[in-house]
Amino acid sequence: MDESPLFNLLLDRSLSHIVVVNAEGEIMFVNDAWVNFGNENECKTSEWKGVNYLEVCEAAAKAGDKTAVLAAQGIRNTLKGTSPQFILEYPCHSPNEQRWFLMRVLSLVIEEKVYFVIYHDRFMSETELCLSKERLALATDAGQVGIWEYDLRDNTLVWDRWMHQLYGTNSVDFSGAYEEWSQSLHPDDIVRAEKQIQDSIYNLSPFDSEFRIITRTGTVRHILAKAKISCDKKGKAIKMVGVNIDITERIESERQIRKLAYYDQLTDLPNRALFADRVNQAIKVSDRLGVMGAILFIDLDEFKKVNDTAGHSTGDSLLQAVALRFQSSLREEDTLCRIGGDEFIVLSPELSKEQVHAVNGAKALAEKLLLSLEMPLILGDYQTKISASIGISLFCGNSVGRHDHSNQEHNQSTYELLLKQADIAMYKAKRSGKNRLCFFDPSLQADVSRRALLEGELRIALAKDELLLYYQPQLDDEFGLVGVEALLRWSHKDYGAISPVEFIIVAEECGLIIPLGDWVIDQACRQLYLWRKKRSFDHLKVSVNISARQLYAPNFVEKIINCVNHYDVDPKLLKLELTESILLEDTNIAVKKMTALAQADIFFTLDDFGTGYSCLSYLKLLPLCVIKIDLSFVKDILVDKNDVAISRTIMALADALGLEVIAEGVEELEQLECLRKMGCHIFQGFYYSKPLSIDKFEEYVWNHR
Ligand code: C2E
Ligand code: CA
Ligand code: CA
Repeated sequence: MDESPLFNLLLDRSLSHIVVVNAEGEIMFVNDAWVNFGNENECKTSEWKGVNYLEVCEAAAKAGDKTAVLAAQGIRNTLKGTSPQFILEYPCHSPNEQRWFLMRVLSLVIEEKVYFVIYHDRFMSETELCLSKERLALATDAGQVGIWEYDLRDNTLVWDRWMHQLYGTNSVDFSGAYEEWSQSLHPDDIVRAEKQIQDSIYNLSPFDSEFRIITRTGTVRHILAKAKISCDKKGKAIKMVGVNIDITERIESERQIRKLAYYDQLTDLPNRALFADRVNQAIKVSDRLGVMGAILFIDLDEFKKVNDTAGHSTGDSLLQAVALRFQSSLREEDTLCRIGGDEFIVLSPELSKEQVHAVNGAKALAEKLLLSLEMPLILGDYQTKISASIGISLFCGNSVGRHDHSNQEHNQSTYELLLKQADIAMYKAKRSGKNRLCFFDPSLQADVSRRALLEGELRIALAKDELLLYYQPQLDDEFGLVGVEALLRWSHKDYGAISPVEFIIVAEECGLIIPLGDWVIDQACRQLYLWRKKRSFDHLKVSVNISARQLYAPNFVEKIINCVNHYDVDPKLLKLELTESILLEDTNIAVKKMTALAQADIFFTLDDFGTGYSCLSYLKLLPLCVIKIDLSFVKDILVDKNDVAISRTIMALADALGLEVIAEGVEELEQLECLRKMGCHIFQGFYYSKPLSIDKFEEYVWNHR
């Protein structure tokens, strides 16, 4: 027998134990696996070649080994040629374990010589089989896996205990008919699941499907099913064997996760992420069809008040109620989303190809939304009315009003840009008096950019101490100087003088007004301190303008008192100017704070009087000492009878309440005369002097002594 190296190597690597014998049973070749097997089973022979296999078997048979009897018989018959092959399954009792083997004896004819190959292959022992069955049962139990067999020949099913558990059946009440199973499928899933079964039978391919079932108790469960097809010898499918796994919990948690990721918890509306997706889709459609759509940015007016006065849970109920009202005002194709707090956005796609109609459509929708809040909201015992401010931006494909080039530089997506524009427009609506809508217009963008710029620059100016206080004299009708109003000035190195009318608003919006206001008060008190020892100055009152955010900041009262104490100045010389609108924001708190300051001899001036609501009832409550007639009345007092009448009324009112009156914005002698005749005695205005730097003001005082 030729023993080529490759041939030997292949045999040695084989897992089968291979022995080749001649017609006499004499061993001519063994592979490594056989040698190792012999060694493991205390059948050690240094040289197997030449040993007669048949004799070894017969010896063992004589010693009483029943398997050996059978083996010897079978091998002999094969060697004699009475049977073409011999197969025997036998256990091998080694000291370590009991294993099962399969012996096969085949005859081979090579170059007219006959050889016999004896293979021994390991296969699973009975205990191993039992064990693995147990393991499988354990695994199916732990994984709650149901095992099933579907016999295609008679259309019946065999289920294990877990299958019954899943479907709520038992081996008695389940007939095993295929139809009984298919009837338990969810009506929406029957067609698909049955088709998948038919497909896999037809293609002999694995079955892999997810479907819902309705159990005997009526609950719906999600099932993952997998199976394989087994075929008969002719290759015809006869059986499906597979598993059912209950994935209800997984599906449920996936649903929850999806909900958390894409929906707002409070209102169940889509959240920002889902909204962005829908807008991007809408932009694509709009691009293809050339139809315009709109984004509406909605912010509730004064929602914070509801939260503060009625509590957060009422606030939450209000948001839910508002969401419902909005939702019912929308078309089916519109999407409403809450992006946080009291902010909602609406996507209204496919409005019209014509810009005019698109604008009208968006406007009508916004009006409908505003109208939906007209009726009071009833939330348990709490009843309230709320309004909203709406900003609108329109789009047609990706062409949004990209007027601001900085946006392109920042590579903003159309969606982001649209949202920003709608937000800017909403802001405008809010600033122009709330409960209204406003379309985005590129000039608003410029406004916002300028504001952002000012905010940054103002921070720097404040940090670098680049702001100044100017002083505008206040004189009585005998030209006696009684006080000054401190007015902020900011001269920017690149942009020149910036009006306080502009930068105070910016400071109020970004919160810078607090440090800015502190600085003004500190400067004013410092000035009072410096003038304390100077005759001609030591009696001057300094008026300081106070913003709403300053007044309502928690430590306002303490800050002012501390500053006055720090410079050790007469508190009566410091006057705080407040406008009516500030006082009306929260009259109760305002009165408390003002009273606390009045107890420290710090009093107030009511600024711009007559321009606001002029709600007279609270005037008595406040520790005021001066009312300022707004310059808008003074301006036309010589020509406009109404202004005369108003000024007269203010004067009478002040008289009745025992308050002083200052007329501001007096530019001409005639105006002064007219006001004096009405009973006004203190004046401030260009007629006397513009606001002056400290040096110029001191010079002015020296000249007017
Ligand atoms: P305001 O408190 O009503 O100040 C009076 C404004 O009228 C000042 O404008 C003043 O320069 C101007 N004015 C005075 N006399 C005349 C006149 O005869 N004719 C005309 N046409 N105008 C006159 P200004 O300085 O531009 O300040 C504008 C506003 O900025 C102030 O209005 C005040 O609301 C705010 N402001 C200024 N400084 C401060 C400050 O330190 N803190 C706060 N919170 N606001 C300030
Ligand atoms: Ca003022
Ligand atoms: Ca004023």
